[in-house]
Parts: sequence; structure tokens; C-alpha cells
Amino acid sequence: MNNAGIVALSHINKVFISDELETHALTDVNLVIEEGEFVSITGPSGCGKSTLLSVIGLLDIASTGNYSLSGYDVNTLDKQQRAVIRNKEIGFIFQAFNLISDLTVAENVELPLTYRSDISKEQRKSMVKTALEQVDIQHRASHFPSQLSGGQQQRVAVARAIAGKPSLILADEPTGNLDSKNAATVMALIDELHQSGSTICMVTHDPKSAARASRTIEMFDGKVVLDKSNKFAAAV
Ligand code: ADP
Ligand code: MG
Repeated sequence: MNNAGIVALSHINKVFISDELETHALTDVNLVIEEGEFVSITGPSGCGKSTLLSVIGLLDIASTGNYSLSGYDVNTLDKQQRAVIRNKEIGFIFQAFNLISDLTVAENVELPLTYRSDISKEQRKSMVKTALEQVDIQHRASHFPSQLSGGQQQRVAVARAIAGKPSLILADEPTGNLDSKNAATVMALIDELHQSGSTICMVTHDPKSAARASRTIEMFDGKVVLDKSNKFAAAV
């Protein structure tokens, strides 16, 4: 690990061009995220939060600017290399859970690990078990997503995100589809991950969830307009 941070974005711009319409989704974003940080990103709908998370998570590429992820110069990677690095370095948690409906809970958590040449089958099974236990859903390992509540499905998605021990966990409105009780459970899990040393970047509409992060970033119209550390958040 160099000391440039896990994530180092420099002068990042993202422009979407469709039907002769140019949308400047990100404008000159500069952001360094250090190991162990829990960063929340807030801002009005359409201000570029999901686009930023997609760029950080290698789901999309910036139009211009430099990005270094865990020491990799992302600009020099081809699509295949980005996919390999994404699978190893990033764990995603989405608002809509994004579980595969015809795979069991355990299979959903196992799937990303099956693409990893550095993990044996035995290791994989043990990583799945550990992750399911960590989110306390091991008793549902052979159930299908449709047999679970929303809160349980999101816990499975958290298990899938953490099973491969990624350097960075990205969450896009992770509690957006949950009632307040399940949202609290998922937020408690995310807090736990942070306290055990995970680096987390979470988009949220909810000021209470945002306040639990160690650092709060506010976006407006494609730009970072506020970036402040939160001394009241749980210490790493
Ligand atoms: P947020 O997550 O903050 O609501 P997004 O990052 O999803 O915002 O979107 C930022 C802007 O980029 C919006 O104007 C949105 O319409 C536009 N945008 C996002 N994705 C695409 C896309 N694939 N093609 C065209 N425009 C897009
Ligand atoms: Mg969004």
C-alpha cells in the first residue's frame, strides 16, 4: 500500500452523452480515501453520487482525470483487468440488494469468489461460512432470496460484499429499501465493519446514517461541496 490512500481521485470528470444531450455528472472531483475511513456521501437526487460510486468501484470509467485504486493506476487497465481488480478489491452493497433469485443465499455469497484464481474451493466454502455468520444469516444458507425479508436479503448482500475481504466496501443507499428496524440492523452491521477496520464509502439520503460515518462528503451538481471529518463518529 502506498500512502496515496486506497482511493485517490484527481480532477475526475464524467460526462454522459445521449441523444445529443450532454450530462456533466461529475465535475473536477478530487477525493482521497484512506484505509479504515468510513465516508458518507450525501446530496440531492441527480447530483452524481451513484456515478461517483460507479467510478470508484470500477463499474464505470471517468471521462477525464486520474484514479488510483489500491495502488493500481486505473487509467492503464483494460476492461478485463478492471473486472478482476473490482472483484478482488471492491465489495458492493446496493439499495435493491441485487441478489440472484435462482441461487441460494450461500451460492449468492459464493459466486463472486468463484472468479478468484487465488482462492481454493475449500477456502471459498470457509469464507462463505464466515461471512454468513458475520451477518447472522447462516441459518438461511440454503434458502432462496424470495424466501427472506428485505432486511435479511440486505444482510446476505452485506455477506457477499465482505466475503472476499475487499479493500473497500461501497454502499449505495443500503437502507433505502428497508423499514426503520431493518435499516437499523443493516446500519449496525456497517458500523461493525468500520470498527473492525473496513474502509467504507456509503451514499445515503438519511442524515442519521450519514452522521455515523467518520467523514461526511456533500455533493451538489456533480461537485464535492463539503468534506468534513466527524469527530463524534465511532473511532477506528
Ligand atoms: P444520484 O445518484 O446523485 O441521484 P446519478 O449519479 O445517478 O445521481 O446521476 C447524475 C446525473 O447523471 C443525472 O443527471 C443522471 O440523469 C445522469 N446519468 C446517470 N447515469 C447516466 C447514464 N448512464 N446515461 C446518461 N445519464 C446518466
Ligand atoms: Mg443514486
